[in-house]
Amino acid sequence: MSNFEGVEISIKVVTDKDKTRVLFVEGDGNFADILLSFLVMPLGRVVKMLANDHVKENRPTIGCIGNIYNSMKALDCSCFCSRRVKESLTDPLSSFDEECAGLKLDICDYRPSYYSCHSICSLSLRKLSVYWDEPVCKCYKNMKLGAGEEQIQSDRLGKVFTLDDATFIVTDDLHIMPSTGTVAEMVTILGFGKPEGTAKQDVKLKHKDFVDLYIASLISETPLSEVILKKTGQEVKLGKIMLRAKNTESVPQESDKKQMILKMVINKSTKKLLFARGDKAIVDLLFSFLPISLGGVERLLAGKPFIKSIDHLYKSVHNARNKNYFKNSDIEKRLNRSSLAHGYLPKSYVLNLDEEKLPSDIEKYYVYYQLSKSFFYGQGKYLRGPKTYMIYDDLTIEPFYMADIFCNKEEVSPCDLEELNLTIGPEEALNLLQAALTTKHALTSGILNPHRDLDISVHE
Ligand SMILES: [Zn+2]
Repeated sequence: MSNFEGVEISIKVVTDKDKTRVLFVEGDGNFADILLSFLVMPLGRVVKMLANDHVKENRPTIGCIGNIYNSMKALDCSCFCSRRVKESLTDPLSSFDEECAGLKLDICDYRPSYYSCHSICSLSLRKLSVYWDEPVCKCYKNMKLGAGEEQIQSDRLGKVFTLDDATFIVTDDLHIMPSTGTVAEMVTILGFGKPEGTAKQDVKLKHKDFVDLYIASLISETPLSEVILKKTGQEVKLGKIMLRAKNTESVPQESDKKQMILKMVINKSTKKLLFARGDKAIVDLLFSFLPISLGGVERLLAGKPFIKSIDHLYKSVHNARNKNYFKNSDIEKRLNRSSLAHGYLPKSYVLNLDEEKLPSDIEKYYVYYQLSKSFFYGQGKYLRGPKTYMIYDDLTIEPFYMADIFCNKEEVSPCDLEELNLTIGPEEALNLLQAALTTKHALTSGILNPHRDLDISVHE
């Protein structure tokens, strides 16, 4: 059972007269904060939440990102640079954990970890970096992980991204704007042609509704209609389901960043992809999707279209109308930047994301922080090498053995196999990330299909 099971968020819903679609909803800062939190939740944390038995029931899956998470969990600890690396990917930190601790409702039900000093000074420090084992307090005692959490939680309860007492209009496709515009502006923004009549109702949204809304925002163009009208017993007209990743035209290449090779093993007769082979750098890249958030994906796409509702949510952060409604200007910049939490950035990372810097004032309170001993050899990488991994179209990952070529699941003769070497640079890595969120055939859609000359199709 979720810790937020009893929490309800009240909103006003305006639908068309027949209640077939939501025109817009109106809610307070708590509601806007929960929607904005969709942009900062690490994907691995969302996958973990969706796998919980009390959350799982009959919900659609999101692309095949869950297969990356499950493969990472199934991989033996000996494949990772340390046990702590695996733990850090199993429960990814977010650079917004402090803010999210104040959410009235957190869809991931996440409780940040805190280091506390059990001496008389009783200092607490949120876990800010995957590299820390035990920070040392100014009283020279090692701080212990876990305690101090409740006190900080209660201190922070309230609005986390937006100002107290503000109210917001949210369109069906997740444009957020303050409720202070003029009527004429509203009519233009909402695109009312000649409204045939409208209906208003009060709705209370619970934890499960926001989980549904997160998923609906990824697979429907009308997520609010889908979740709210289902809730009020109306028939829902599904929006267009987005299954294909859209290829970006070009992504700035940084010449100093390493390119990786993915070997695609293809059945020559049927042109079907059997699986791909890659080294630990490729798997590090796939595992690095787990600490990335949807805001991070948007940041990487730099304004190019991805999924309509998520595009709108991200653009709402920069909407000039919303500028004065954030708690501070720093929040807007950080939402825009969507940095990974400190310590997650692999060396030679091909994606154009950065990681959070540690706060400069930290030494005022703590003497020093010892970097993790268990990460000493692992900084900037997740997996030990050299080792080759097998990656299936749905991004299931397993250690590779040559025997798999000769005794493959599809029983294809090795003579009928060909291996294509494809270079994975920033553009391909981004295509793969988008494909992981939108399709079950991520390698075919994200990597092979953009190579139109290869004529390789998706086989169900
Ligand atoms: Zn102390």
